[in-house]
Amino acid sequence: MKGIQKLIMSTEDTNTIKTNWKQILRESPEVSKRAAQKFQISKKWFGPAPELFPFKLNGYWLRLITAPDDPIGVQTFPDEKEFQETASASVDPLQEERYRKAPLIIHRYRDRALFLVSNTCAVYCRFCTRRRQVGRPPFPRQIQIMESLNYLRAHTEIRDVILSGGDPLMLSDSRIRRLLVQLRRLPQIKILRIGTRMPVTLPQRITEPLVKILRHFQPLYILTQFNHPAEMTSESRRACTLLVEHGLPVLNQSVLLKGVNDDPEVLLDLMRKLVEIRVIPYYLHQLDPVRGALHFRVPVEKGREIMQYLWAHTGGMAVPTYVFDNPEAPGKIPLYPCAGQS
Ligand code: SF4
Repeated sequence: MKGIQKLIMSTEDTNTIKTNWKQILRESPEVSKRAAQKFQISKKWFGPAPELFPFKLNGYWLRLITAPDDPIGVQTFPDEKEFQETASASVDPLQEERYRKAPLIIHRYRDRALFLVSNTCAVYCRFCTRRRQVGRPPFPRQIQIMESLNYLRAHTEIRDVILSGGDPLMLSDSRIRRLLVQLRRLPQIKILRIGTRMPVTLPQRITEPLVKILRHFQPLYILTQFNHPAEMTSESRRACTLLVEHGLPVLNQSVLLKGVNDDPEVLLDLMRKLVEIRVIPYYLHQLDPVRGALHFRVPVEKGREIMQYLWAHTGGMAVPTYVFDNPEAPGKIPLYPCAGQS
């Protein structure tokens, strides 16, 4: 505990006044290595071993961690439990590769498609569903982007495109603008969404120049992922407020995680805080059965109890829909609280 406080303080010396997201990201490998040394995290987690999901954090995120086993540390630091073998787990639990119709396009539902424009992030979350590809080469290339745009152009049934990855906001402002311009040239695409954890893991990325670009491409929605109230800092509030005040709706998709937020009071606090900053609590996801992350799974019965608690203790606006993803289903499946459960 003393160790992490010392590390945080030395990181604070160089990071508290840092608002430049590029600089914070540039320092991220060094900060990750120092954190790993301090907490005796094996070098193996830095990859690129194909069976390991690499470890990465940044100076901002490290400041939020008070101990490796606190709710933010647990999401961040690798654990030997990731090697537990279970028959029910899969490297691709949503069978996305089956629906990969162009180099960067996952087209599972008729009217919407995922466009995987990046495979890096500001922090690698240990429970990531796409850990089979996030943080590892090959990284998306321009030719793949062009082929993927061609697919979208040819499939006029697609009206909703979700930029995802990895984190699309790892791209530079100019690359994001170019992509959005190309997408807006396709008249059938009515809705754009960006799935990003940047408001949470590196809120300095949400800059005035970025939001001024994004607001030109509306309707454009930001899908983010706060999992615990400790992630709600003055910086993350500022980031969400900036987005909302530029007319960009922000929706939150928490993941239900053991040891992080599998507690009704924690989620109640989080949902209330989200509404206060005008972020809509959209989904609470049952974690996909992804290999290496099963130790984060919470039984559905417990999830339902938490939902029942939220319904009983706050207004509907602060209650997300509890869902799970089934690759065979035409959409996400709601997991309503059971009638009569208290
Ligand atoms: S930010 Fe999203 S894509 Fe990146 S590691 Fe976390 S969950 Fe995965």
